[in-house]
Amino acid sequence: MKVTDYIQKADKTLFSFELLPPLKGEHFEHIEEKINRLLEFNPSYINVTYHQQEIEYENLKNGLLRKRTVRKRPGTVGISAAIQYKTDIDVVPHLICGGFSKEDTENALIDLHFLGIDNLLLLRGDPPATQKFFKAEPEGNNYAIDLVKQVTNMNKGIYLDEKLANSHPSNFCIGVAGYPEKHAEAPNQNSDLKYLKEKVDAGADYIVTQMFFDNKKYFRFVEDCRDLGIDVPIIPGLKPITTKNQLLTLPQTFHIDLPDELVGEIVKCKNNEQAYDLGIKWAIAQSKELIDFGVPALHFYTMGKSDNIYNIARAVF
Ligand code: FAD
Repeated sequence: MKVTDYIQKADKTLFSFELLPPLKGEHFEHIEEKINRLLEFNPSYINVTYHQQEIEYENLKNGLLRKRTVRKRPGTVGISAAIQYKTDIDVVPHLICGGFSKEDTENALIDLHFLGIDNLLLLRGDPPATQKFFKAEPEGNNYAIDLVKQVTNMNKGIYLDEKLANSHPSNFCIGVAGYPEKHAEAPNQNSDLKYLKEKVDAGADYIVTQMFFDNKKYFRFVEDCRDLGIDVPIIPGLKPITTKNQLLTLPQTFHIDLPDELVGEIVKCKNNEQAYDLGIKWAIAQSKELIDFGVPALHFYTMGKSDNIYNIARAVF
């Protein structure tokens, strides 16, 4: 079933979470344990992230460097199908522009469609750590909107090969990302919102937000989107703090602000265990306020951990 159908039929806020595919060499059981713990709270759907290739440099004995391209977390399509068929819960695999030509994307979409997967979260992807700016593949999609257009076309039976006639249409429900505190590269919030509106006009059915720690940012974002005529569901994305160091790394990596009160509380933590507990407490308070506001679903970024999400879900759902 589609994410938007779940939202439409629900009489309360839905629970969903996002998983990372296991590292190369790890078994499905590694991820299964995490899922099984969270099944108690009846997730409506489970997202599975996509990880593009990374570039590594190996020091050779002769003093030269060898460049290697590695994909550390492959298997998004396979893991998504395994989860959907083992748990009978719908999955939302992420697809990104980075590392894909349009042809690669079309082939991945065909696989997903044959596997009975109806939901996608479509993203541009970040540049690899060794690159400053995002660069699309030759013949690839430049922005998430291009990916949205490709999937919308396929939903109408329009494939890349214009010679194909009477092609079978896919039926994907499309989610895209939105940024309550603006995407890092956007010159300002208005510009970012304008492009978000374009993604929705091109066929996105709903939006999932970047993490935020101050609900006021989300409320404002929803207001701004509605003022612009963006009328699709806007699902808040939440990530609990897990370590003291995230005081520095989260703003740097995700270009978000932490509210004064949270900063003060993290500074007071004596160790990571205290920061972990604080993260759970803060996310529970955020979740309760968002549910009272009437959000369609709560989307939790697990970042490979499930104990904290379990504790939050137990307190909230
Ligand atoms: P876009 O919507 O393409 O926007 C990128 C930037 O370009 C923005 O600044 C926007 O304002 C601007 N822009 C958009 N369209 C245009 C245009 N036509 N002309 C000029 N400028 C434009 N990354 C992964 O690699 N794998 C994942 O699984 C993953 N999952 C994510 C899940 C969520 C919920 C979120 C919020 C992010 C996720 N990301 C993931 C990170 C995401 O790929 C990055 O934030 C990326 O930098 C932007 O992706 P986007 O889809 O928002 O890009």
